[in-house]
Amino acid sequence: MKKILSLFLFLAISLPIFAQIETDDNYFEDEEEDLPETDSTRTAARIAIDTLRTHDKYTDVIIYDDQTWEYLSYPRPGIDSTSVYDRWWNTELLHAYQGYSKDSIPAEVDILLVDETHGFKVPWQAKVHSGFRWRHRRPHYGVDLSLDTGDSVRVAFDGVVRFSSGYKTGGYGNLIVVRHSNGLETYYGHLSKRLVIPGEPVKAGEVIGLGGSTGRSTGPHLHFETRYKGQPFDPEHIIDFDQGALRSALFTLKKDYLNIYSHYGQTEQQVAKAKAEVAAAKQAQYYKVRKGDTLGKIAARHGTSVSRICKLNGIKTNKVIRPGQKLRVR
Ligand SMILES: [Zn+2]
Repeated sequence: MKKILSLFLFLAISLPIFAQIETDDNYFEDEEEDLPETDSTRTAARIAIDTLRTHDKYTDVIIYDDQTWEYLSYPRPGIDSTSVYDRWWNTELLHAYQGYSKDSIPAEVDILLVDETHGFKVPWQAKVHSGFRWRHRRPHYGVDLSLDTGDSVRVAFDGVVRFSSGYKTGGYGNLIVVRHSNGLETYYGHLSKRLVIPGEPVKAGEVIGLGGSTGRSTGPHLHFETRYKGQPFDPEHIIDFDQGALRSALFTLKKDYLNIYSHYGQTEQQVAKAKAEVAAAKQAQYYKVRKGDTLGKIAARHGTSVSRICKLNGIKTNKVIRPGQKLRVR
């Protein structure tokens, strides 16, 4: 009796396995003639002949010479706050990354802005009144959003308040700077009131201050900046302020964005032109006009032409120049 039971058990357990193997064998026989015996020998013998990109930039497909393929996965960016708050952290300094070299920033950085547990809320929903660009002879490193004094200003992402002060903040007036778990910092300027203190943790959407017109401001508005390692970039790259929405969860920050001539929505040509402008601006040379100078004399002395000087300074060739006037010669 015991023997029969054992046999029965053996059959009950093994039959499905036999059935499975049989199916697999049939499958292989249909496909190809001389397949090696096991999966392991196949793996050892095959050679990768090509790599294909997929719609997902973190996954490629490797194609082998035996017409098999497999996925190759790269590490995906995540929101990891472990090192964000302990390095380059300073609650006294307006800009904490002073001394951080821009050279250490790679050409492209993938930043995951939000995930299941880290959300987003637009700080203030409005049409951008004045954007990230060169303005009135100085760089404007953020966007200006019109509001009324006393309106609630909300923090864009989860994070910790790094700076909150109304004292010696330059043109910012009452300013709050928040460092986020996603690695960015956001700046909220010209506030009438600050409702948070440095070191305070905040959740996306929390009211951190009230809108105002403190500092260098001509009327109530929020001056909002986004920075990576202290370097400002156009916030419109990540936020549609008019719609009050994040453009996408994953943001690819390009190093090219980290200059005042780079704006959201530029074409490739405009980016190239902006780059050339940056390079030219770095090379710029100025000359202070002296008594008896003429455009012709100045041009000759600097190895350039009158028309070039006029173009650089936006003046006509018959323009009268005066001693003490500064002219760009290069
Ligand atoms: Zn502004």
